[in-house]
Amino acid sequence: MGEHYPITTLQRDRWILQRRGHKNSLEPARPYAFLWEEECDDQGELISTATIFLTNRECPFRCLMCDLWQNTLDESVSAGAIARQIRYAIASLPSARQIKLYNAGSFFDPQAIPPEDNPEIAQSLRSFERVIVECHPAFLRGKYAERVLRFRDLIGSKLEVAIGLETVHEPTLQKLNKRMTLDDFKSAAEFLKSNDIDLRVFILLRPPFLTEAEGIEWACRSLDFAADCKADVCTVIPTRGGNGAMEALGGQYQPPKLSSLETVVAYGLGLCAFRVFADLWDVEKFSTCECSSQRATRLAEMNQTQQLPSAIVCSTCT
Ligand code: SF4
Ligand SMILES: [Zn+2]
Repeated sequence: MGEHYPITTLQRDRWILQRRGHKNSLEPARPYAFLWEEECDDQGELISTATIFLTNRECPFRCLMCDLWQNTLDESVSAGAIARQIRYAIASLPSARQIKLYNAGSFFDPQAIPPEDNPEIAQSLRSFERVIVECHPAFLRGKYAERVLRFRDLIGSKLEVAIGLETVHEPTLQKLNKRMTLDDFKSAAEFLKSNDIDLRVFILLRPPFLTEAEGIEWACRSLDFAADCKADVCTVIPTRGGNGAMEALGGQYQPPKLSSLETVVAYGLGLCAFRVFADLWDVEKFSTCECSSQRATRLAEMNQTQQLPSAIVCSTCT
């Protein structure tokens, strides 16, 4: 059995923080990672993509499953640093048609990405057809909404915003400590869609507190909810441990199986509502059987083709 998980948000914040290890030491002038990849677009074409993991101040939320804080700073970066990081990564990568700027938090959080840097950042994104950023719904409403629209206008190409829906299983969503309700998500989706901004949705497969079967069921229901919110892309993420807090939950968190990821992605593709990707970062950590590498290859093919290759038959795990 794991430790007792607290009930109130403030207690949860503290409990999660106390179980953290150390952050990595980062250089504010450089992105902490960047890579070139290809991603299937809505026409079935593979689009060259530059993905940049920006170094910036830590997200103000304390989600139970989050490990992104490991690659963040305690302080905001100075003016111009983010644009410099972007230019550095672009110059180091092969050319690409779209760009993902992931900042381990919310792109429109002024503490993370200084708003006065918008013009310089937009200038460095000129050559891309699509710009994809991530953001918590709290930074897509009220006084922050204006910045989103200004940024959309400044880049002069298609803006896509990724939001972590995580799960539509409401008791679990609440325990994840994300400080977001399904209504918050829906309003953020409506705001984006009514302003000609595309919506990417991150969904967790088997967050803590759910069994394998419940994990599959609620990931599928989350895909249904994303379809109702008119999402353009969904990425299903097998829930990972490794941040301290997840380990402290003991048996309340178990990593999902790759066969479950296949089931959920297949369900999402069957909705014919959007593209569906399996997040395959660190996929080897989910290996539980000799068929796992074949399953990972099949998932990569599903990502690239948005079709279902023939199923893997395994006498050991099925
Ligand atoms: S909102 Fe995203 S980046 Fe921030 S703590 Fe939660 S999962 Fe991590
Ligand atoms: Zn197997």
